[in-house]
Amino acid sequence: MKKLKLSILLAICTVIIANRPAKSQNIKSPELAVKALEVLSADDMEGRKTGTEGNTKARTYLIDEFTKLGYEVQTDTFSFRSTLEPVQGINLLIEIKGQKYPDSYIVISAHYDHLGIKGDDIYNGTDDNASGSASLLAIAAELKKKKTQHSIIIAAFDAEEMGLQGAKHFVKHPLVDQEKIALNINMDMVSQSEKDELYACGTYHYPFLKEPIENTAKHFTDIKVLFGHDLPNSGHDDWTGQSDHYPFYKAEIPFVYFGVEDHPYYHKPTDTFDKLTKEFYMNAVAFITAFVFDIDKEFKSKLNN
Ligand SMILES: [Zn+2]
Repeated sequence: MKKLKLSILLAICTVIIANRPAKSQNIKSPELAVKALEVLSADDMEGRKTGTEGNTKARTYLIDEFTKLGYEVQTDTFSFRSTLEPVQGINLLIEIKGQKYPDSYIVISAHYDHLGIKGDDIYNGTDDNASGSASLLAIAAELKKKKTQHSIIIAAFDAEEMGLQGAKHFVKHPLVDQEKIALNINMDMVSQSEKDELYACGTYHYPFLKEPIENTAKHFTDIKVLFGHDLPNSGHDDWTGQSDHYPFYKAEIPFVYFGVEDHPYYHKPTDTFDKLTKEFYMNAVAFITAFVFDIDKEFKSKLNN
């Protein structure tokens, strides 16, 4: 009888040990990201086009969620012209002071706007870029639990779809001196991949980022982290200028952009929540979150030189 109990106990222990996730994968927030992704890409957000009610609704939701996590959100309003019409955009910014290098900043960004409504079609923009903005919430949740050495700015940019306007405004008028920004980690379309492939774009320009990305990726074997899409003069294949990391690049601030290969739903009304590759998204969010902490810790010298 005793022996049987012991073997049952052993069996239970084995199961528990086998199910214990690796340390770097022990991140709960991807579930939070999926929930936020569903809210942000629902029909009532009306495609989140800059200057519309749906965009305001998405921004209000993000502010509420960041506030619930215990953050103070700053809004930064800017104006620009889109086909001669003056438009206002609003960036959301959160500053988190670093413990060891408070004057060196990592900007983690994603745009929350999308294409709105055209004719009878709502462009829900689940992957583009409810996925990135929901990831900001997940990363912010983890940053509440664990302090970083560098300071962090979480930036939910507006008006990316109108020519990277929010990011351009931010880089021109950052929250802190531009020379204090050591790195931009940008996310745009991180939830849709049947092949479980996430690109880390930018290491052609900043090779020092390749090794740390590889080191973090080793712990996330359910997704493939690929490099590329950053060779100059390779046409549309070069994503250097394709999203909010571009104004950082132009200002000679190192960047890495995480995103997936273009898919049939890209900039279509079919980019909806039901197409989400959920497991991939959760793994991508966990990986990017882990990378934030790894790069903060491991590359202090390179980021602070
Ligand atoms: Zn986008």
